[in-house]
This record gives sequence, structure tokens and C-alpha cells, in this order.
Amino acid sequence: MSVSKYVVRQDGVIVGILCKGCGVPIRGLVPVGEPISTRKNGNTIIRDNYLMLGVGSNYTEVEIEVEKDGRKGKHVTCLCKTCARKMTKAQLQDAYDADLDDLEAEGQNVKELRKWKPGKILKETR
Ligand SMILES: [Zn+2]
Repeated sequence: MSVSKYVVRQDGVIVGILCKGCGVPIRGLVPVGEPISTRKNGNTIIRDNYLMLGVGSNYTEVEIEVEKDGRKGKHVTCLCKTCARKMTKAQLQDAYDADLDDLEAEGQNVKELRKWKPGKILKETR
């Protein structure tokens, strides 16, 4: 059971998501609301903020067609906008596997899902 290399964790907390095509960051922590404290360190003003996992301007989601025994299904995953237009079949397989690894790490049984094979990107859903 492995955890996707596209999920960046610090001390067990998700701090970023990388594109499954090229590895560029597509989600990362961004400050939320007003600073909860402000202090000075020499000439530097330090503002502490709550952070949330934000979405980068290059972030998009795609619907991938998956197939098993002639049956077709769909799988949604996130990528950068550039890769969403040029993912190869091998890259789609890697992205699909990485998503299933994440689900498995969360305790889901993905045995059946592993039998489906990604074909092509149907559309961007974002
Ligand atoms: Zn990319």
C-alpha cells in the first residue's frame, strides 16, 4: 500500500498537490482571512494566517474514459491545464494508478477498480 507521490505532506498534513502529468504544483497552501497575529522581527513584519489548500490558476479536472471487458466508465482526476490537453495513455494509466493508491491508503478496497483501464480524456470538467 503506497501513497501517491503527487500528494505532498508535511507532518502528515496535505500541503500540496502536484500534477500527475508533469509534477508541477497545482494546489498549495494559501492564507485565509485576516492575520491572526502580527509581530516584528527587526525590520520584517511577520503575519500569521490560517492556511487552506488552495487551487492554482493552472489547476483543472478531467474526465477519463475507463474500460473493462467492453464496458465503459468514467474517472475524474486533477491535472495542470497543459497536461490536460496532452496526456499519453501511459501517463493516464500512471495517474489512474496514483488515484487508486490514494483511495487504498484511505482504506478503500480498489481491487475491482484496478481492472479498469484508462483510455482517453473525455473532457475538462472545470
Ligand atoms: Zn502537468
